[in-house]
Formats: sequence, structure tokens, C-alpha cells
Amino acid sequence: MFWGRENIQHSMQDRGEDFSCSVCLDLLKDPVTIPCGHSYCMNCIKTNWDEEDMKGIFHSCPQCRKTFILRPDLQKNTIQNLLKVLICFSR
Ligand SMILES: [Zn+2]
Ligand SMILES: [Zn+2]
Repeated sequence: MFWGRENIQHSMQDRGEDFSCSVCLDLLKDPVTIPCGHSYCMNCIKTNWDEEDMKGIFHSCPQCRKTFILRPDLQKNTIQNLLKVLICFSR
């Protein structure tokens, strides 16, 4: 059985879960889930919020535009671990 990056992404999307980042449009890297439930790469959402900091506007979710007055704590979720397991199986 061969599991490429694409296969993993597609099979996960088939299950109705979105494991791609809507900022860089790639597979989530160091995924974090923000309070509205959307997930982004740690770096992508940080960069996004840094830009908003500079503009002096509230932090928002790039996907649903929900705004957060305080910058939410970014907690790593377990997608990364799940992917590692899948990638291990492919070798
Ligand atoms: Zn990203
Ligand atoms: Zn959102």
C-alpha cells in the first residue's frame, strides 16, 4: 500500500475533515485549532495575527472571519501525530 501526501490528504477529506490550511493551502504543518474550530499551521495563523497586530485590528479567523479581541492561546492539536503514524505505515 502506498500512501503519498496527496493520498493522506484526500482520504481525510473524504471523511469530511479538512486537514489543509486555508492560509497556505497546503497540508497543516504544526496544526493549531483556534476557538472557532478552524485549524491552521502554527506559522500561518501567527503571521496572519502579527499582520493584524500591525494594522491595529482584532485578530480574526481567515476562514470564518470570527474576531477575537484577545489573541487566543494556540494549542497544538493531534493531527500532526496522526499524520506521522500514517506516514510510518507507508514505509
Ligand atoms: Zn498554513
Ligand atoms: Zn474560523
